[in-house]
Amino acid sequence: MEPSKCKRCGHEWYKRTPRKPVMCPACKSRYWDTERISTLKNEIAKAKIYLSDPAKKESAKEVIAALELRFNARRNQATG
Ligand SMILES: [Zn+2]
Repeated sequence: MEPSKCKRCGHEWYKRTPRKPVMCPACKSRYWDTERISTLKNEIAKAKIYLSDPAKKESAKEVIAALELRFNARRNQATG
């Protein structure tokens, strides 16, 4: 079985039940499965650096497009 991974602190663990864990056992975040908007913003900013590198430009564009989709989806949710 795949381990669960906290998107807030990076902690990985194996859950004991088939249900989705309520919170991260390490940082106790209930939003362990939801990235922070600031994290996504940072990742987009980092990916944009590669746009100036001709060898990495095309893959950077794909990464940015995927991140922006996630960013927009997150922005429509209420959680921090
Ligand atoms: Zn955590």
